[in-house]
Amino acid sequence: MTASRRLAGPLRSPRSWTVLGMLAPVGMLIVSGLMLLDLRRDAWEKAEQTSRNLLQVIERDVARNVEIIDLSLQAIVDNLKAPGVAEASPELRQLVLFDRVTSAQDVGITLVLDEAGDSILDAASTTPRRVNNADRDYFKAHKARADLGLHISHPVVSRLTGAPVIVLSRRISKPDGSFGGVALASLSLSYFDRLFDRIDLGRQGTINLYHRDGTRLLRYPTPDPVSAPPPNFLAAPNFQRFLHRDRGTFVGTTLSDGVERHYTFVQFPDLPLVLNVAVATREIDAEWRRKALVLGGILLALGGLTAGLSLLFGRELRRRTAIEAELARLSRTDVLTGLTNRRGFDAALGAACERARRTGQPLCLLIVDADHFKRYNDRYGHAVGDAVLKGLAQGLSASVHRPDDLVARVGGEEFALLLPDTEMAGAARIAERIHARVAELAIAEAGIAAGTVGVSIGLACAAAETAADDLFRLADGALYAAKEAGRNRTCRATVPEPEAASPAARGRAALRVVGA
Ligand code: GH3
Ligand code: MG
Ligand code: MG
Repeated sequence: MTASRRLAGPLRSPRSWTVLGMLAPVGMLIVSGLMLLDLRRDAWEKAEQTSRNLLQVIERDVARNVEIIDLSLQAIVDNLKAPGVAEASPELRQLVLFDRVTSAQDVGITLVLDEAGDSILDAASTTPRRVNNADRDYFKAHKARADLGLHISHPVVSRLTGAPVIVLSRRISKPDGSFGGVALASLSLSYFDRLFDRIDLGRQGTINLYHRDGTRLLRYPTPDPVSAPPPNFLAAPNFQRFLHRDRGTFVGTTLSDGVERHYTFVQFPDLPLVLNVAVATREIDAEWRRKALVLGGILLALGGLTAGLSLLFGRELRRRTAIEAELARLSRTDVLTGLTNRRGFDAALGAACERARRTGQPLCLLIVDADHFKRYNDRYGHAVGDAVLKGLAQGLSASVHRPDDLVARVGGEEFALLLPDTEMAGAARIAERIHARVAELAIAEAGIAAGTVGVSIGLACAAAETAADDLFRLADGALYAAKEAGRNRTCRATVPEPEAASPAARGRAALRVVGA
């Protein structure tokens, strides 16, 4: 069998088409599902990369600015200790102390406070603006501890400018190590606003800057009110995760609004600050979800179409198969009697002879011909002749009972009965039954009484090697003999032994018939 034939076989089956029609959309769904998963992974990788880049830019900018301010504060603290600075003229002192003070736009005020918290030096003027900050947290902290280093305050409202600021400060120690005041510089919160304003984090994205002690210094885009004490998140699970590692990412839910976000965070290496950028997971997925919906919709439509078409195709194929089977049946059926016709009989005879030869089972053939049938047509008309033929067909069918027995109409008023697995004696009994049934046949409307219709029957049984043609010829010869012998009777054909007879001799055997 060639490959194309092997393939064509299953493709002719309606079930195969239905199964294919179902499998194809399922396959498409699986492939597209994998593709969508891939797309989602891409979207997340892109979001993670963007967050990491943003975090790095912000971290660098904040660290650099804090460093610049801190360097100027360290310069002030160091220079205050330098000999002669205290005695120098205000102008010279101003020059020495605040030489390295940054003039960056967001650095608001640079002041030196004495140990009582009063402003004694001001980078902006040789006559310092008067303010006392002894109550500020940073002042108290430096007063309490000498080793604090750079202190970064919570956001406060500047007493001199009224602007919200973060104060960076360093302690000034007297030569004996006791508290001598504070050098401070304020960093305006507008610096962070300007920095973050350039960043697009989606509608629910946030940036938070925390002190490592858990207080939130900054929140973008919705800042905490400056006057209130800043909220502390030290105990919050998300904050604990920030402290766990130097930098990293995770997905967590923000307690305040219940929104699930993807967090990217970093602990500043040299500062007590923690920064995070958080993007709502819904927004990361939004683009992907839109694609998935469109693709899913198209796929469902295509899948439905494919499934529908293959169901339709399968149904058509089934109908065609049924029609072909019906046509094949009709091509082997006689229209008038409903019996198998000559074509069907020939095929069945060939198959039966072949089977008999193979299995060694007996096989008998009866050919039944209506006697003087022409007269019925002539006397009663063709319609009555047809009715008689139908009656004969019913009588013949009623005379056999085995499922393998075949009754066929092989000519105008000529029938054949193929009797597999039947010996001569059994076939002769069936012939008798036929005669009896035909004798009962009557067509009342036409005035044909029972006992009027008769048939002649030729009977032959196949020997081991009898071919289909020979068997038919033998039965036909027996029928001829029955006609010759006076009709309305059965004659049997006897078959010579195969080895003793040539095919010609077997043909002649048809003439050696005996009456039933
Ligand atoms: P015999 O006893 O020798 O067989 O005589 P017969 O008249 O039966 O034989 P013959 O072969 O001379 O005539 C057969 C007739 O059967 C011819 C035809 O009119 C008739 N016949 C054949 N087919 C049909 C049919 O389908 N319907 C009808 N009504 N008659 C048919
Ligand atoms: Mg006849
Ligand atoms: Mg005839």
